[in-house]
Amino acid sequence: MVMSISASLANCNGHKKDENQEQEKFKFLTEQFGDSKILRYQVPGFESLSLKQKKLIWFLSQAALCGRDITYDQNCRYNLLVRHTCEAVYEGFMGDRSSADFIHFEIYLKELWFNNGLHHHYSTDKTQAGFSKEFFVSAVKSTPPEKLPLAIGQAPDHLADEVAMVIFNPAIAPKRVSLDSSTDMVLASACNFYEGVTQKEAEEFYYRLKESDQKAGRDTRISYGLNSKLVKVNGLVKELTYKAGGLYTQAIEKIIFWLSQAVEVAETPGQKASVEKLVEYYHSGSLEAWDEYNVLWVNDQDALVDFVNGFIETYGDPQAMKAGWESVVNFKDIEATKRTKIISDNALYFESNSPTDPQYKKTEVKGVSAKVIRVAQLGGECDPTTPIGINLPNANWIRSEHGSKSVTIDNITYAYDQASLGNGFLEEFAASPDEVAKIKEYGYAASSLTTDMHECLGHASGQLKPGVTHDLLKNYHSSIEESRADLFALYYILDPKMEEFGLLKSLKAGEAEYDAFMRNGLMTQLVRIRPGKDIEEAHMRDRALIAHWVFEKGKEKNIVEKFTRDGKTYFRINDYQGLRALFGQLLKEIQRITSEGDYKAGRELIETYAVKVDQDLHTEVLDRYKKLDIAPYAGFINPAYEPVMKGDSIADIKISYPEDFATQMLEYSGKFSFLPVR
Ligand SMILES: [Zn+2]
Repeated sequence: MVMSISASLANCNGHKKDENQEQEKFKFLTEQFGDSKILRYQVPGFESLSLKQKKLIWFLSQAALCGRDITYDQNCRYNLLVRHTCEAVYEGFMGDRSSADFIHFEIYLKELWFNNGLHHHYSTDKTQAGFSKEFFVSAVKSTPPEKLPLAIGQAPDHLADEVAMVIFNPAIAPKRVSLDSSTDMVLASACNFYEGVTQKEAEEFYYRLKESDQKAGRDTRISYGLNSKLVKVNGLVKELTYKAGGLYTQAIEKIIFWLSQAVEVAETPGQKASVEKLVEYYHSGSLEAWDEYNVLWVNDQDALVDFVNGFIETYGDPQAMKAGWESVVNFKDIEATKRTKIISDNALYFESNSPTDPQYKKTEVKGVSAKVIRVAQLGGECDPTTPIGINLPNANWIRSEHGSKSVTIDNITYAYDQASLGNGFLEEFAASPDEVAKIKEYGYAASSLTTDMHECLGHASGQLKPGVTHDLLKNYHSSIEESRADLFALYYILDPKMEEFGLLKSLKAGEAEYDAFMRNGLMTQLVRIRPGKDIEEAHMRDRALIAHWVFEKGKEKNIVEKFTRDGKTYFRINDYQGLRALFGQLLKEIQRITSEGDYKAGRELIETYAVKVDQDLHTEVLDRYKKLDIAPYAGFINPAYEPVMKGDSIADIKISYPEDFATQMLEYSGKFSFLPVR
């Protein structure tokens, strides 16, 4: 489960002490295009790692990059063809590079890289091209043919038409993930997890598979469908598994190669065993092996360097079964991890004092480990846009029997924070100078702690009624689950215990978080929604649900107040403890819905509070935001690693920080394109 990029919008402008003065001069923001900006992040502490640890990070970073094409292909089957064609044009274009068409083409390609494909990474709508079809067709035709991804015997003008059709025809692949439950969501989604299969056929296929496993006495706790594409061949529905020798073998074999190098420099026996199991899984595609790997991975707590690499999150599948490929290579920030250790050491306090129904609480909290990490390499779905917190594994039975690992990604959050300094966003939307001051003093610490608690405690809290599984909530599961984790964190960020535990220096920090959360959920997150559109993304629905629900329930007592000043709308919290009680009340209900798998109640809550947008407020917010000229989404340029050779052996790994997004994307496409484009 991932905690998304709220920090870029909610609680920026905080302060943080630096490890070294040099960071002050580092350029965090490099460019903006469309609704996106590109940031760089630093990896403090890399230089002082041991050579063995540096090698491990480098091998894992190569493995992370080898899966890049998988993400493109999973997002939509046209993505690799369009990307290769556009890259060839971009590099080979001989015409006027300052023409409006070319400039729009360049933005389009950057958005394609940013989104890992044709569709916006957040809204999942197909990106609009700002250049003309004529320009594109003639640009393809004037590109050296040997650079183009031509099919055997295909003429360049035929390729130009083929790709132009995908880009310009609005009827082709309009949406990557459709969550409109009134339609066949599988057919309405352009993601590449199903081909020629209806939603009903997909549901039936897995129902039968599970049933036959049950009868045969096989392990039915596995995550059905997680690492495969479902296709119909000669009228029969079947799975194409992602594995060596299976679908995506060209990329998976490379991943296996680099993981096998990593085995040799693993830090601990536990880590070695887990990486070996991961390699075994990539060979077999067995979901039992995947679960075994996850158990080993959760138990490997001692290594400093850690990583995820695999088919993990299911947000890209309308059925929430099939996982996108991702990788995050990282190492522990030992100092900052003291904070999360306090949280995980007291997990039982939080669980037993939460306002949820006792029968849905855990009676013992097992192995919730939390750490603060520094990312060294992002890959797949996590690159260029990345979460700021991760809690894995996702399999519920592993979480309850073996625990989970929860991380807060500090160097990414820090980059967001630095890049937002002085952009005017907070000043524009905060209700008062006092609120601004509170955020500036406490915002960074409060939002980091909220992320920790969301990941480490929130997702790990509670238990299901016997026989209930998460899939009962269907398309509402992700939003409900995220709101559960958010509410848990919100409830406790204003607990007096926070001061007692030494986690916050003042409860004012909790108030700052409440201000930021409500402002975001009721108002500012709307900057990410295009006019007239509904809210669809799970984390955004989660925040809209919580903010609107507590706003409504607290109306009578005026707990949160909406007011206008100089024609602008603001929200002010009048009663923080009252708001905390409402968060607790909603947490109790959301936990009940989760524990009982109450689909109807979940649907009711989401559809009532989290989907529709107040059109007038939306227009106003977009208008105010536009004047600030800030891009709402951020992606990252990764550091580059280069081995320093001494004879045949690696003597050191040097880290550097590239500054140009397009150069890095072209370099990745040059070195890590392993999959066929068709
Ligand atoms: Zn989450």
